[in-house]
Amino acid sequence: MSDHPAECEHRLPTDTADGLLLILSGPSGVGKTTITRGVERSIADSVFSVSVTTRAQTEADVEGVDYHFATEAEFDSLIERDELLEWASVFGKRYGTPREWVLEQLRRGRLVIVEIDVEGAKQVKTKLPEAFAVFVLPPSEEVLLQRLQSRKRESEEAIQRRFAEAKREIATARESGVYDLFVVNDDLERAIGVAVEAVRARRTSGPSADEKRAL
Ligand code: ADP
Ligand code: 5GP
Repeated sequence: MSDHPAECEHRLPTDTADGLLLILSGPSGVGKTTITRGVERSIADSVFSVSVTTRAQTEADVEGVDYHFATEAEFDSLIERDELLEWASVFGKRYGTPREWVLEQLRRGRLVIVEIDVEGAKQVKTKLPEAFAVFVLPPSEEVLLQRLQSRKRESEEAIQRRFAEAKREIATARESGVYDLFVVNDDLERAIGVAVEAVRARRTSGPSADEKRAL
């Protein structure tokens, strides 16, 4: 990379050292957060992007760690000020990724993990085509339902709504063409290992020729 200041200014934010944006998507309860924690343990310079959401805080959620909880009006104002890299409505609530924080981490050359839905992933890939997108699949529908229930975070009604949405989300993900990798989260350590190796390979080799053409 050149040290010439004028050239640096015109580079895309992720075009530094080995900064990489890792998109993790998958149906609710499939294990995205659990896999993220595993990737964070394995890759020293990884950071998790804390999303903003209008959904209600649960007992399991820590403000500023799991999410930044916002009112509808606060979320409106983030959109108006163009402070979100992407946002989408999921299960009737809005979720979004703070833009400046993510870009700053990428400028520092870090691995930035965003846990976002397919709609959000499409938006990110349009803006930052060099992002690496992984979709996490459940081993089976039964296992997905068990995981949603074992978490004891939502009401049974909310669990059923999330479960019903899962098939549609998986089909949309497959059709979207956004994802570089589909990983089945059967054995947790195996799934984390696949994600970690894919990220390391990507950081070593850079985007494929097709992706470079899209930049
Ligand atoms: P998500 O972030 O995708 O909504 P979570 O990471 O919260 O999902 O995981 C949902 C539940 O499934 C949690 O109770 C978690 O401990 C469990 N879980 C995640 N991965 C596995 C796995 N490979 N095997 C068994 N249980 C898992
Ligand atoms: P939960 O309410 O279970 O924490 O999150 C529900 C779903 O919202 C997640 O499975 C994830 O796909 C999606 N989500 C979380 N944060 C974001 C975000 O910042 N942007 C988008 N587009 N989706 C998100």
